[in-house]
Amino acid sequence: MSLRPTVDFLLHDWLKVESLQSRERFTDHSRETFDAVLDTCERIAREKYAPFNRLVDTQEPHFDGEKVTLPQATHDAYKAYAESGMLSAAQDYEVGGMQLPYTVEAAANAFFAMASVSIGSGMLTSGNANLLMVHGTDLQKQVFALNEFSGRFSGTMCLSEPQAGSSLSDVMTRATPDGADFESDALGARYRLKGNKMWISSGEHELSENIIHLVLAKIPDANGQLVPGVKGISLFIVPKKLVDTDGQLTGERNDVALAGLNHKCGWRGTTNTLLNFGEGKYPVRGEAGGGLDGAGSGAVAYLVGKPGEGLRCMFHMMNEARIGVGMAATMLGMAGYYASLDYAKNRPQGRPSGAGGKDASRPQVRIIEHADIKRMLLAQKAYSEGALALALYSARLVDEQHTGTAEDADVARLLLEVLTPIVKSFPSEWCLEANSLAIQIHGGYGYTRDFPVEQYWRDNRLNMIHEGTHGIQAMDLLGRKVLMENGRGLQLLAERMMATAAKAETSWAPEAAALRDALKQVGQATQQAWDGAEPAQALANAVPYLQAFGHTVIAWIWLDVAHSLGDDNSAAAQGRRAACRYFFRYELPKIGAWLNVVKSRDPTCADLPEEAF
Ligand SMILES: Cc1cc2nc3c(=O)[nH]c(=O)nc-3n(C[C@H](O)[C@H](O)[C@H](O)COP(=O)(O)OP(=O)(O)OC[C@H]3O[C@@H](n4cnc5c(N)ncnc54)[C@H](O)[C@@H]3O)c2cc1C
Repeated sequence: MSLRPTVDFLLHDWLKVESLQSRERFTDHSRETFDAVLDTCERIAREKYAPFNRLVDTQEPHFDGEKVTLPQATHDAYKAYAESGMLSAAQDYEVGGMQLPYTVEAAANAFFAMASVSIGSGMLTSGNANLLMVHGTDLQKQVFALNEFSGRFSGTMCLSEPQAGSSLSDVMTRATPDGADFESDALGARYRLKGNKMWISSGEHELSENIIHLVLAKIPDANGQLVPGVKGISLFIVPKKLVDTDGQLTGERNDVALAGLNHKCGWRGTTNTLLNFGEGKYPVRGEAGGGLDGAGSGAVAYLVGKPGEGLRCMFHMMNEARIGVGMAATMLGMAGYYASLDYAKNRPQGRPSGAGGKDASRPQVRIIEHADIKRMLLAQKAYSEGALALALYSARLVDEQHTGTAEDADVARLLLEVLTPIVKSFPSEWCLEANSLAIQIHGGYGYTRDFPVEQYWRDNRLNMIHEGTHGIQAMDLLGRKVLMENGRGLQLLAERMMATAAKAETSWAPEAAALRDALKQVGQATQQAWDGAEPAQALANAVPYLQAFGHTVIAWIWLDVAHSLGDDNSAAAQGRRAACRYFFRYELPKIGAWLNVVKSRDPTCADLPEEAF
């Protein structure tokens, strides 16, 4: 099975991505240039990623106290990806980019996520550099971002701490001005940073010449106290190795030390680290590790943007990262679907029941002939292809936000606000379920490491946890996104759904009616959840709300895709129509149960005293 026809269908037949050519930024692009990018990524993923997916799972990163060793295959894949130009694909020509629409970039990256999500394709590096291109000074862009785009340096995002995961307002890493002249450093106001960052992906390795950490920390007030809440958080560049204003390494190691690697359930090809900043392991610039608290005087750090605006800047990276996480979850779902489809076509087991029962003298059938196996295949297809369509639709909104008229850009911005929690969370939950079904189709074999599906499930299990847990995404959706700007984002989304229902009125009448009804139910639940309620009551069932909202969105996406097929009668079109029908008949009706507890603000869980558990 090849992913390419599905990607081509969604990009060209459904989203009409070539129409972006009319935008000034994309005039040099055409179907040919888009195809060339997709061809290259498909080939690199096939040659440098897919064959090594199991190897990076079994040969976990190893730390000998000095260096982290990764398999050679990871180095080769990193190099091939950097050389493809994908790290700066969306950037301007003048900084070496391709001015590629984000929609095509996201589609191209899907090939890597499917081939080996855990080798990774530089999402953190390009996200880190993209952030600096927006919030950094000219020199920060030149020295840090451009070297990340070329692959010479790599990037991280350092938000989480052992005691501050979901609650970033509790960040304790502190940054103090470095000397009287701290503001005159050409690379940005210079601070000394101390603290511990937990769970940092790609925090240590030898893949690149340098690692550029983007770190959230607090600048103490005049009394030396950390400002409570997120307002006190600032953003800093902390290079692993110090550089001069030409981006050359100065030969000084910054005081960023690997305290240890985390040993994960999946996604094992990427290092995951606990980093100590400024504890004196690598005393830097004139201090010998003898600060007041016995530690060093801190890692050298350069302020990005203004003090106190760290989280706002970081959100730039987090939104991109959330679409990236959704895409990763989606492609793992797709990988499991293809693997189990292939298995089901080849595994003989059981015989069909005829009028006189089963005839044991007849040969066994392949399991794809059993209705229950078909159900599990169609569920995987509906979750994964639906999620891919949504991710690409959202990527297209990003392009609209960047290149559309002021009015269209604003509409795209609001739609993205509402859709981002779904783009991240729907695939994290349901493409994980798809992976579970892929294991089920393999029977006992699926539960062994001789087949790839158990690894897909383990790799995918992360996605409901990082970049904002499922629970946090749900509260963001119900507590903020559907309410913001007087509910305008939700209203705009509803209009798009109604437009799809209207055009599908004749060809898909029952589905169009079901979508209208689902939308009505979501609207009522949103109102009833908040009707005179305290936030704690309204949000107590935020996750069922997220589930219902996500299912409504994917039903809409499937109806739009199915309608666009017209009278195409190819096998692929039949499959897509069936996936749409499956979603409306087997999945969408679930929203009733989810929304009932939201509407009634059911207190069964919230009010149960601890002792009763
Ligand atoms: C493999 C991996 C890679 C990661 N990569 C990075 C990285 O590169 N950079 C980075 O900064 N971080 C990274 N993270 C950290 C990740 O973002 C956090 O794990 C996540 O934000 C959750 O924080 P936590 O683990 O401390 O869990 P907690 O915040 O303690 O949450 C535990 C549970 O409590 C729930 N919960 C918490 N607060 C509330 C609340 N107010 N209301 C209701 N429920 C609540 C959560 O939903 C969750 O189910 C990574 C994590 C992992 C596992």
